[in-house]
Amino acid sequence: MPVTKTIVRELTQFPYLSWDDAAPRASAPIRAALEMVLASCDGAVLTPQQNLLLAEAQGSDLLALLVAANQLRRALCGEVVTWVHNRNINFTNVCFVGCKFCAFSVAPKKEDAYFLTLEQVAHRAQEAWDRGATEVCIQGGLPHGLPKFYYRDILRAVKAATPKMHIHAFSPMEVLYGVELTSMSTADYLTMLRDNGLDTMPGTAAEILDDEVRQKISRNKLSSSEWQQIIRTAHRVGLRTTSTMMYGHMESPRHWVNQLQLFRDMQSETGGFTEFVPLGFIHDHTLMFKQQLARGGATLAEHLKVHALARVMLAGSIRNIQVSWVKLNQELSQLCLQAGANDYGGTLMDENISRLAGATAGEYTSPQQFAQLIRAIGRTPAERNTTYSRITLMPEIHPTHAGAPHPALVKIQPAVTGGAA
Ligand code: SF4
Repeated sequence: MPVTKTIVRELTQFPYLSWDDAAPRASAPIRAALEMVLASCDGAVLTPQQNLLLAEAQGSDLLALLVAANQLRRALCGEVVTWVHNRNINFTNVCFVGCKFCAFSVAPKKEDAYFLTLEQVAHRAQEAWDRGATEVCIQGGLPHGLPKFYYRDILRAVKAATPKMHIHAFSPMEVLYGVELTSMSTADYLTMLRDNGLDTMPGTAAEILDDEVRQKISRNKLSSSEWQQIIRTAHRVGLRTTSTMMYGHMESPRHWVNQLQLFRDMQSETGGFTEFVPLGFIHDHTLMFKQQLARGGATLAEHLKVHALARVMLAGSIRNIQVSWVKLNQELSQLCLQAGANDYGGTLMDENISRLAGATAGEYTSPQQFAQLIRAIGRTPAERNTTYSRITLMPEIHPTHAGAPHPALVKIQPAVTGGAA
Protein backbone atom coordinates (compact mmCIF):
# COMPACT_ATOMS: atom_id res chain seq x y z
CA MET A 1 0.00 0.00 0.00
CA PRO A 2 1.61 3.34 -0.98
CA VAL A 3 1.98 5.59 2.04
CA THR A 4 0.69 8.99 0.95
CA LYS A 5 1.45 12.16 2.87
CA THR A 6 -2.19 12.34 3.98
CA ILE A 7 -2.11 8.85 5.47
CA VAL A 8 1.16 9.62 7.25
CA ARG A 9 -0.24 12.89 8.61
CA GLU A 10 -3.43 11.25 9.84
CA LEU A 11 -1.65 8.27 11.36
CA THR A 12 0.97 10.26 13.20
CA GLN A 13 -1.74 12.31 14.93
CA PHE A 14 -2.65 9.43 17.21
CA PRO A 15 -0.38 10.42 20.15
CA TYR A 16 -2.43 13.62 20.48
CA LEU A 17 -5.79 11.84 20.61
CA SER A 18 -7.54 10.59 23.72
CA TRP A 19 -9.71 7.49 23.80
CA ASP A 20 -12.75 9.77 23.94
CA ASP A 21 -11.61 11.36 20.65
CA ALA A 22 -10.82 8.08 18.91
CA ALA A 23 -13.61 5.79 20.16
CA PRO A 24 -16.63 7.48 18.47
CA ARG A 25 -14.90 7.27 15.08
CA ALA A 26 -14.17 3.54 15.33
CA SER A 27 -16.52 0.82 14.09
CA ALA A 28 -18.71 -0.84 16.72
CA PRO A 29 -16.86 -4.22 16.87
CA ILE A 30 -13.41 -2.59 17.18
CA ARG A 31 -14.65 -0.20 19.80
CA ALA A 32 -16.29 -2.99 21.80
CA ALA A 33 -13.14 -5.13 21.71
CA LEU A 34 -10.86 -2.30 22.80
CA GLU A 35 -13.23 -1.17 25.55
CA MET A 36 -13.18 -4.70 26.98
CA VAL A 37 -9.37 -4.73 27.14
CA LEU A 38 -9.16 -1.20 28.54
CA ALA A 39 -11.64 -2.09 31.28
CA SER A 40 -9.81 -5.27 32.32
CA CYS A 41 -6.18 -4.51 31.29
CA ASP A 42 -6.16 -8.11 30.11
CA GLY A 43 -5.94 -9.23 26.48
CA ALA A 44 -7.34 -12.63 27.45
CA VAL A 45 -10.86 -11.19 27.21
CA LEU A 46 -10.63 -11.08 23.41
CA THR A 47 -11.76 -13.86 21.08
CA PRO A 48 -9.59 -15.00 18.13
CA GLN A 49 -12.03 -13.23 15.80
CA GLN A 50 -11.65 -9.97 17.70
CA ASN A 51 -7.86 -10.26 17.60
CA LEU A 52 -7.95 -10.74 13.86
CA LEU A 53 -10.26 -7.79 13.46
CA LEU A 54 -7.76 -5.63 15.36
CA ALA A 55 -4.87 -6.99 13.28
CA GLU A 56 -6.69 -5.98 10.10
CA ALA A 57 -7.80 -2.55 11.35
CA GLN A 58 -7.48 0.40 8.96
CA GLY A 59 -8.27 4.11 9.06
CA SER A 60 -10.23 5.22 12.14
CA ASP A 61 -10.21 1.68 13.51
CA LEU A 62 -6.43 1.63 13.39
CA LEU A 63 -6.25 5.02 15.10
CA ALA A 64 -8.48 3.67 17.88
CA LEU A 65 -6.19 0.64 18.28
CA LEU A 66 -3.11 2.88 18.57
CA VAL A 67 -4.76 5.19 21.08
CA ALA A 68 -6.03 2.26 23.17
CA ALA A 69 -2.59 0.62 23.13
CA ASN A 70 -0.99 3.84 24.36
CA GLN A 71 -3.57 4.09 27.13
CA LEU A 72 -3.01 0.45 28.13
CA ARG A 73 0.76 1.00 28.20
CA ARG A 74 0.21 3.96 30.51
CA ALA A 75 -1.95 1.86 32.83
CA LEU A 76 0.38 -1.15 32.84
CA CYS A 77 3.86 0.42 32.69
CA GLY A 78 3.48 4.11 33.53
CA GLU A 79 5.58 6.80 31.84
CA VAL A 80 9.02 5.21 32.20
CA VAL A 81 10.83 4.09 29.06
CA THR A 82 13.68 1.71 29.81
CA TRP A 83 16.86 0.78 27.94
CA VAL A 84 19.75 -1.56 28.69
CA HIS A 85 23.47 -0.76 28.42
CA ASN A 86 24.71 -3.61 26.28
CA ARG A 87 27.03 -4.65 23.49
CA ASN A 88 26.32 -7.01 20.61
CA ILE A 89 29.02 -9.54 19.90
CA ASN A 90 28.45 -11.49 16.68
CA PHE A 91 31.38 -13.87 16.96
CA THR A 92 31.23 -15.17 13.38
CA ASN A 93 29.37 -14.33 10.19
CA VAL A 94 30.03 -17.76 8.67
CA CYS A 95 26.82 -19.75 8.45
CA PHE A 96 25.52 -22.77 6.56
CA VAL A 97 21.83 -22.27 7.29
CA GLY A 98 21.05 -19.92 4.39
CA CYS A 99 18.00 -17.97 5.60
CA LYS A 100 16.69 -15.94 2.69
CA PHE A 101 16.07 -12.85 4.82
CA CYS A 102 19.64 -12.74 6.12
CA ALA A 103 22.26 -10.41 4.66
CA PHE A 104 24.72 -11.01 7.49
CA SER A 105 25.95 -14.53 6.85
CA VAL A 106 28.67 -15.47 4.35
CA ALA A 107 30.40 -18.62 3.11
CA PRO A 108 33.65 -19.50 4.91
CA LYS A 109 35.91 -18.62 1.96
CA LYS A 110 34.46 -15.16 1.37
CA GLU A 111 36.84 -12.27 1.82
CA ASP A 112 34.73 -10.70 4.55
CA ALA A 113 34.25 -13.93 6.54
CA TYR A 114 35.45 -13.65 10.13
CA PHE A 115 35.58 -15.78 13.26
CA LEU A 116 36.45 -14.24 16.62
CA THR A 117 38.62 -16.28 18.95
CA LEU A 118 37.52 -16.85 22.54
CA GLU A 119 40.10 -14.27 23.62
CA GLN A 120 38.66 -11.71 21.19
CA VAL A 121 35.11 -12.33 22.43
CA ALA A 122 36.27 -11.98 26.04
CA HIS A 123 38.19 -8.82 25.15
CA ARG A 124 35.08 -7.25 23.61
CA ALA A 125 33.12 -8.10 26.74
CA GLN A 126 35.83 -6.51 28.87
CA GLU A 127 35.78 -3.35 26.71
CA ALA A 128 32.00 -3.20 27.03
CA TRP A 129 32.19 -3.55 30.82
CA ASP A 130 34.74 -0.72 30.94
CA ARG A 131 32.32 1.46 28.95
CA GLY A 132 29.46 0.80 31.34
CA ALA A 133 27.67 -2.14 29.74
CA THR A 134 25.88 -4.57 32.02
CA GLU A 135 25.01 -7.09 29.30
CA VAL A 136 26.63 -8.69 26.29
CA CYS A 137 24.34 -10.15 23.66
CA ILE A 138 26.25 -12.94 21.92
CA GLN A 139 24.99 -14.61 18.77
CA GLY A 140 26.64 -15.70 15.54
CA GLY A 141 26.29 -17.65 12.35
CA LEU A 142 26.45 -21.45 12.39
CA PRO A 143 29.70 -22.57 10.80
CA HIS A 144 30.34 -26.19 9.84
CA GLY A 145 32.83 -27.87 12.14
CA LEU A 146 32.29 -25.64 15.16
CA PRO A 147 34.18 -27.17 18.12
CA LYS A 148 31.69 -29.30 20.06
CA PHE A 149 31.62 -27.17 23.19
CA TYR A 150 32.31 -23.77 21.63
CA TYR A 151 29.19 -22.10 23.05
CA ARG A 152 30.08 -23.30 26.55
CA ASP A 153 33.65 -22.14 26.05
CA ILE A 154 32.50 -18.65 25.01
CA LEU A 155 30.60 -18.40 28.30
CA ARG A 156 33.63 -19.50 30.29
CA ALA A 157 35.89 -17.01 28.51
CA VAL A 158 33.49 -14.09 29.02
CA LYS A 159 32.80 -14.90 32.68
CA ALA A 160 36.54 -15.26 33.34
CA ALA A 161 37.13 -11.77 31.92
CA THR A 162 34.01 -10.08 33.32
CA PRO A 163 32.44 -12.18 36.11
CA LYS A 164 29.58 -9.74 36.71
CA MET A 165 28.61 -9.23 33.09
CA HIS A 166 25.13 -10.55 32.27
CA ILE A 167 25.42 -12.95 29.34
CA HIS A 168 22.39 -12.93 27.06
CA ALA A 169 23.31 -15.41 24.38
CA PHE A 170 22.52 -18.06 21.80
CA SER A 171 19.34 -18.26 19.78
CA PRO A 172 17.27 -21.46 19.82
CA MET A 173 18.88 -22.28 16.45
CA GLU A 174 22.33 -22.13 18.03
CA VAL A 175 21.10 -24.21 20.96
CA LEU A 176 19.78 -26.83 18.54
CA TYR A 177 23.18 -26.86 16.80
CA GLY A 178 24.94 -27.26 20.16
CA VAL A 179 22.61 -30.14 21.04
CA GLU A 180 23.40 -31.83 17.71
CA LEU A 181 27.14 -31.29 18.12
CA THR A 182 27.24 -32.77 21.62
CA SER A 183 24.43 -35.37 21.39
CA MET A 184 23.18 -34.13 24.75
CA SER A 185 19.48 -33.71 25.56
CA THR A 186 18.14 -30.15 25.24
CA ALA A 187 17.60 -29.94 29.00
CA ASP A 188 21.11 -31.19 29.80
CA TYR A 189 22.67 -28.92 27.22
CA LEU A 190 20.85 -25.82 28.48
CA THR A 191 21.64 -26.73 32.07
CA MET A 192 25.30 -26.99 31.14
CA LEU A 193 25.19 -23.56 29.47
CA ARG A 194 23.42 -22.11 32.52
CA ASP A 195 26.00 -23.62 34.88
CA ASN A 196 28.80 -22.11 32.80
CA GLY A 197 27.45 -18.58 32.90
CA LEU A 198 24.51 -18.22 30.54
CA ASP A 199 22.07 -15.82 32.23
CA THR A 200 19.29 -15.35 29.67
CA MET A 201 18.61 -16.20 26.01
CA PRO A 202 17.33 -14.18 23.07
CA GLY A 203 14.11 -15.63 21.67
CA THR A 204 15.36 -14.95 18.16
CA ALA A 205 15.13 -17.39 15.23
CA ALA A 206 11.35 -17.24 15.74
CA GLU A 207 10.64 -15.12 12.64
CA ILE A 208 7.11 -16.39 11.95
CA LEU A 209 6.32 -19.56 13.89
CA ASP A 210 4.39 -21.17 11.09
CA ASP A 211 6.12 -23.99 9.23
CA GLU A 212 4.57 -23.09 5.89
CA VAL A 213 6.17 -19.64 6.06
CA ARG A 214 9.39 -20.99 7.56
CA GLN A 215 9.80 -23.42 4.66
CA LYS A 216 9.79 -20.48 2.28
CA ILE A 217 12.03 -18.07 4.15
CA SER A 218 14.47 -20.35 5.98
CA ARG A 219 13.90 -24.00 5.17
CA ASN A 220 17.02 -25.22 7.01
CA LYS A 221 16.11 -23.53 10.24
CA LEU A 222 14.52 -25.21 13.23
CA SER A 223 10.78 -25.83 13.01
CA SER A 224 8.16 -23.96 14.97
CA SER A 225 7.74 -26.87 17.41
CA GLU A 226 11.52 -27.17 17.89
CA TRP A 227 11.68 -23.45 18.70
CA GLN A 228 8.91 -23.84 21.26
CA GLN A 229 10.47 -26.94 22.79
CA ILE A 230 13.83 -25.22 23.28
CA ILE A 231 12.26 -22.09 24.76
CA ARG A 232 10.01 -24.11 27.10
CA THR A 233 13.01 -26.14 28.22
CA ALA A 234 15.07 -22.99 28.77
CA HIS A 235 12.32 -21.56 30.95
CA ARG A 236 12.07 -24.83 32.84
CA VAL A 237 15.78 -24.85 33.70
CA GLY A 238 15.56 -21.24 34.88
CA LEU A 239 16.75 -19.35 31.80
CA ARG A 240 14.43 -16.50 30.92
CA THR A 241 14.17 -15.45 27.28
CA THR A 242 12.77 -12.74 25.09
CA SER A 243 10.08 -13.46 22.49
CA THR A 244 10.34 -12.08 18.96
CA MET A 245 8.50 -11.92 15.65
CA MET A 246 9.80 -10.77 12.26
CA TYR A 247 7.10 -8.97 10.29
CA GLY A 248 6.84 -7.08 7.00
CA HIS A 249 7.86 -9.84 4.57
CA MET A 250 5.44 -12.53 3.34
CA GLU A 251 3.32 -13.07 6.44
CA SER A 252 -0.25 -11.86 6.99
CA PRO A 253 -2.13 -10.41 10.01
CA ARG A 254 -3.32 -13.94 10.83
CA HIS A 255 0.28 -14.94 11.54
CA TRP A 256 0.75 -11.99 13.93
CA VAL A 257 -2.35 -13.01 15.87
CA ASN A 258 -1.34 -16.68 16.03
CA GLN A 259 2.17 -15.85 17.22
CA LEU A 260 1.07 -13.39 19.88
CA GLN A 261 -1.52 -15.90 21.12
CA LEU A 262 1.18 -18.59 21.23
CA PHE A 263 3.45 -16.34 23.30
CA ARG A 264 0.56 -15.55 25.61
CA ASP A 265 -0.15 -19.25 26.11
CA MET A 266 3.54 -20.05 26.68
CA GLN A 267 3.82 -17.22 29.19
CA SER A 268 0.87 -18.68 31.11
CA GLU A 269 2.67 -22.03 31.24
CA THR A 270 6.20 -20.90 32.11
CA GLY A 271 6.27 -17.17 32.95
CA GLY A 272 9.71 -17.15 31.34
CA PHE A 273 9.43 -14.31 28.80
CA THR A 274 10.95 -10.99 29.82
CA GLU A 275 9.60 -9.07 26.84
CA PHE A 276 8.24 -9.18 23.32
CA VAL A 277 10.35 -7.64 20.54
CA PRO A 278 8.71 -7.04 17.14
CA LEU A 279 11.43 -7.08 14.46
CA GLY A 280 10.61 -5.26 11.23
CA PHE A 281 12.03 -7.00 8.15
CA ILE A 282 14.88 -5.03 6.54
CA HIS A 283 14.67 -6.06 2.92
CA ASP A 284 17.24 -4.10 0.90
CA HIS A 285 20.08 -6.60 0.53
CA THR A 286 18.23 -9.86 1.08
CA LEU A 287 17.73 -12.79 -1.31
CA MET A 288 14.09 -13.00 -0.28
CA PHE A 289 13.41 -9.51 -1.61
CA LYS A 290 15.53 -9.96 -4.72
CA GLN A 291 13.58 -13.14 -5.55
CA GLN A 292 10.33 -11.20 -5.00
CA LEU A 293 9.26 -13.59 -2.24
CA ALA A 294 8.69 -10.75 0.18
CA ARG A 295 7.28 -7.26 0.22
CA GLY A 296 9.75 -4.47 0.90
CA GLY A 297 9.33 -4.29 4.66
CA ALA A 298 6.37 -3.11 6.70
CA THR A 299 4.45 0.09 5.99
CA LEU A 300 4.22 2.79 8.63
CA ALA A 301 0.71 1.55 9.46
CA GLU A 302 1.97 -2.02 9.91
CA HIS A 303 4.87 -1.00 12.16
CA LEU A 304 2.53 0.90 14.44
CA LYS A 305 -0.15 -1.76 14.30
CA VAL A 306 2.14 -4.64 15.27
CA HIS A 307 3.39 -2.80 18.37
CA ALA A 308 -0.14 -1.77 19.34
CA LEU A 309 -1.58 -5.23 18.70
CA ALA A 310 1.15 -6.73 20.87
CA ARG A 311 0.30 -4.39 23.74
CA VAL A 312 -3.39 -5.24 23.49
CA MET A 313 -3.07 -9.00 23.00
CA LEU A 314 -0.29 -9.40 25.59
CA ALA A 315 -1.92 -7.20 28.25
CA GLY A 316 -1.92 -9.10 31.53
CA SER A 317 0.71 -11.51 30.17
CA ILE A 318 4.02 -10.13 28.83
CA ARG A 319 4.53 -6.72 30.36
CA ASN A 320 7.36 -5.31 28.27
CA ILE A 321 7.11 -4.45 24.58
CA GLN A 322 10.42 -3.38 23.06
CA VAL A 323 11.11 -1.25 20.00
CA SER A 324 14.05 -2.35 17.88
CA TRP A 325 15.53 1.10 17.13
CA VAL A 326 18.13 -0.36 14.82
CA LYS A 327 15.42 -1.65 12.50
CA LEU A 328 12.84 1.12 12.88
CA ASN A 329 15.12 4.21 13.11
CA GLN A 330 14.79 6.67 15.95
CA GLU A 331 11.77 8.64 14.77
CA LEU A 332 9.63 5.58 14.14
CA SER A 333 10.81 4.08 17.42
CA GLN A 334 9.46 7.15 19.19
CA LEU A 335 6.09 6.67 17.48
CA CYS A 336 5.97 2.97 18.39
CA LEU A 337 6.73 3.90 21.99
CA GLN A 338 3.50 5.90 21.82
CA ALA A 339 1.64 2.97 20.27
CA GLY A 340 2.09 0.57 23.17
CA ALA A 341 5.82 -0.03 23.62
CA ASN A 342 7.68 0.78 26.84
CA ASP A 343 11.28 -0.31 26.21
CA TYR A 344 13.92 1.13 23.87
CA GLY A 345 16.18 -1.95 23.69
CA GLY A 346 19.93 -1.67 24.10
CA THR A 347 22.82 0.64 23.30
CA LEU A 348 24.24 -2.26 21.23
CA MET A 349 27.65 -0.65 20.49
CA ASP A 350 28.35 -2.88 17.46
CA GLU A 351 25.15 -3.63 15.60
CA ASN A 352 25.91 -5.56 12.39
CA ILE A 353 23.02 -7.76 11.40
CA SER A 354 20.44 -5.10 10.50
CA ARG A 355 23.06 -2.70 9.11
CA LEU A 356 24.21 -5.30 6.56
CA ALA A 357 20.60 -5.90 5.50
CA GLY A 358 20.26 -2.19 4.72
CA ALA A 359 19.19 -0.54 8.00
CA THR A 360 20.60 2.94 8.49
CA ALA A 361 19.80 3.73 12.13
CA GLY A 362 23.42 3.22 13.20
CA GLU A 363 25.40 0.87 15.42
CA TYR A 364 25.16 2.57 18.80
CA THR A 365 22.75 4.72 20.79
CA SER A 366 24.40 6.32 23.82
CA PRO A 367 22.65 6.66 27.20
CA GLN A 368 22.53 10.42 26.62
CA GLN A 369 20.82 9.94 23.25
CA PHE A 370 18.30 7.57 24.81
CA ALA A 371 17.55 10.19 27.45
CA GLN A 372 16.99 12.90 24.84
CA LEU A 373 14.84 10.72 22.60
CA ILE A 374 12.68 9.55 25.49
CA ARG A 375 12.24 13.01 27.00
CA ALA A 376 11.31 14.37 23.57
CA ILE A 377 8.11 12.30 23.74
CA GLY A 378 7.36 13.43 27.29
CA ARG A 379 8.42 10.21 29.02
CA THR A 380 10.95 9.34 31.70
CA PRO A 381 14.20 7.56 30.72
CA ALA A 382 15.57 4.78 32.89
CA GLU A 383 18.39 2.27 32.61
CA ARG A 384 17.38 -1.32 33.32
CA ASN A 385 19.16 -4.62 33.64
CA THR A 386 18.37 -7.47 31.25
CA THR A 387 15.55 -8.97 33.30
CA TYR A 388 13.95 -5.62 34.31
CA SER A 389 14.52 -6.48 37.97
CA ARG A 390 16.54 -3.27 38.41
CA ILE A 391 15.31 -0.01 36.93
CA THR A 392 17.22 3.20 37.55
CA LEU A 393 15.82 6.56 36.55
CA MET A 394 18.17 9.01 34.82
CA PRO A 395 18.49 12.46 36.36
CA GLU A 396 17.50 15.60 34.44
CA ILE A 397 21.01 17.00 34.18
CA HIS A 398 23.88 14.78 33.12
CA PRO A 399 27.38 15.66 34.20
CA THR A 400 30.11 14.70 31.72
CA HIS A 401 31.68 11.46 32.80
CA ALA A 402 33.76 10.17 29.91
CA GLY A 403 34.84 6.61 30.51
CA ALA A 404 32.98 6.18 33.80
CA PRO A 405 31.41 2.75 34.20
CA HIS A 406 27.88 4.08 34.48
CA PRO A 407 26.27 7.38 33.54
CA ALA A 408 25.26 9.52 36.49
CA LEU A 409 22.23 7.59 37.56
CA VAL A 410 19.99 7.99 40.54
CA LYS A 411 18.64 4.75 41.90
CA ILE A 412 15.16 5.40 43.19
CA GLN A 413 13.34 2.19 42.40
CA PRO A 414 14.73 -1.03 43.80
CA ALA A 415 12.76 -3.55 41.81
CA VAL A 416 10.23 -3.61 39.04
CA THR A 417 9.59 -7.06 37.64
CA GLY A 418 8.94 -7.74 34.00
CA GLY A 419 6.61 -10.31 32.50
CA ALA A 420 3.87 -12.07 34.31
CA ALA A 421 6.22 -14.33 36.23
S1 SF4 B 1 19.68 -15.64 10.22
FE1 SF4 B 1 21.22 -16.72 11.48
S2 SF4 B 1 20.94 -18.88 10.96
FE2 SF4 B 1 19.97 -17.71 9.30
S3 SF4 B 1 21.56 -17.47 7.73
FE3 SF4 B 1 21.64 -15.64 9.06
S4 SF4 B 1 23.19 -16.12 10.57
FE4 SF4 B 1 22.59 -18.06 9.63
